[in-house]
Amino acid sequence: MMRKGVVAIVGRANVGKSTLFNRIVGERVSIVEDTPGVTRDRIYAHASWLTRDFSVIDTGGIELAQRDFVKEIRMQAEIAIEEADVIIFVVNGREGVLPEDELVARILQKSKKPVVLAVNKIDDVNFRDAIYDFYALGVGDPIPVSSSHGIGVGDVLDEVIALLPDEEEDDHEGEIRFSLIGRPNVGKSSLTNALLGEERVIVSDIEGTTRDAIDTAFEKDGQRYRVIDTAGMRKRGKVYENVEKYSVLRALSAIEKSDVILVLVDGERGIIEQDKHIAGYAHESGKGVVLVVNKWDLVTKDEKTMAKMTKKLREDFKYLDYARIAFVSAKQGSRVDTLFDLILEAYENQRKRVSTSVLNDVLIDAQAMNPTSNFEGGRLKIYYGNQVAINPPTFVLFVNDPKFLHFSYKRYLENKLREAFGFEGTPIHIICRKRD
Ligand code: GDP
Ligand code: GDP
Repeated sequence: MMRKGVVAIVGRANVGKSTLFNRIVGERVSIVEDTPGVTRDRIYAHASWLTRDFSVIDTGGIELAQRDFVKEIRMQAEIAIEEADVIIFVVNGREGVLPEDELVARILQKSKKPVVLAVNKIDDVNFRDAIYDFYALGVGDPIPVSSSHGIGVGDVLDEVIALLPDEEEDDHEGEIRFSLIGRPNVGKSSLTNALLGEERVIVSDIEGTTRDAIDTAFEKDGQRYRVIDTAGMRKRGKVYENVEKYSVLRALSAIEKSDVILVLVDGERGIIEQDKHIAGYAHESGKGVVLVVNKWDLVTKDEKTMAKMTKKLREDFKYLDYARIAFVSAKQGSRVDTLFDLILEAYENQRKRVSTSVLNDVLIDAQAMNPTSNFEGGRLKIYYGNQVAINPPTFVLFVNDPKFLHFSYKRYLENKLREAFGFEGTPIHIICRKRD
């Protein structure tokens, strides 16, 4: 795994942040199909420029409920400083320097984070002289940009890449990294503490960057683990915790750094829309997933309660059918220990490699048992298959024509692979390629 850089875009409203964000991110093609029922925030995305990959955050998408522009822009700038390695500060070249720009500049200056100053809406050369006013902000050389016309964006990105810290191989061989995600008050911190159980903490991470400083490494039964902090900004208290997009953003950056994700839901209060949203991101990341029903102590139970909750979870999180479900109480510490086996299982299955000959036997049997039928004007023929990747396990099937593959048949093949090899806790990807 490579530690990628993070770039945040800040600036007051309507200067063109999201237009620039969209330019930088572009249309990215994913091999994973969109998961139905997952709404996408356009505030966090992957991007690349030249040979560098990085993540981009549009802080303008993180809004406070009440319309206090000064508070809002302060929050956005603080989040940018907390999350990013490089900050793109966008101003409007047509309007000159406004007090809100000065406020942002002062906050950024204090942070000492590298800043790239993009003077936007310089759509043609006649406006170019407008950029000189912005030297007064004291955050470096202004770069003329027209986000809507795509002019100057490359210059901004050249500068960004020059300022990003060197990519380091984030080699954590043998250490399992996991995070706990879920809506505020679901019990993330309580469960983290319960999992850590004081006596086990052997390493408390004090070096490293500020951002990683609250991740905790520990050992349990000879296995090394690291729990990635999701709450973030703990030191600031819970000020931003209830800004939904901010907690989503935190969850996304924790997911990125983890091997296995524990998706927490509140056993007492049940499943809400925000849970599905967060679970969808966990699924799409391709990482290992465990579903954890917390606060189980608060639930009045009879012999059917657990089965009912399981059914509900399977319905609401259809796409997570591979995830194990655990019922715990962080507060009472009950069944918390069982989570380690599930984390380990998901981690190992993520890395599982199957032999090509056994894989092909399974594919042949699957087709014999349930032959393909006509779809889109032809019948799918699978010549052979190959596992091409782990994290998650990814299979390429060479076929006569990928368009003949009906999604229900793909689903069937996935189930057959799962039956044969056991991939509990991890998604698997199946890709069809045409072989002439
Ligand atoms: P944000 O609030 O900072 O995210 O700003 P938006 O990206 O939503 O843009 C605000 C408005 O400025 C929209 O109407 C955009 O079309 C417009 N805009 C963005 N970039 C440019 C640009 O480079 N030139 C011009 N003329 N308009 C732009
Ligand atoms: P976070 O915001 O997701 O980190 O949630 P916290 O860990 O701060 O927990 C929120 C509240 O729920 C606190 O008052 C906890 O004491 C309580 N809580 C957490 N886990 C449990 C649990 O398993 N059972 C009960 N009864 N309360 C819990």
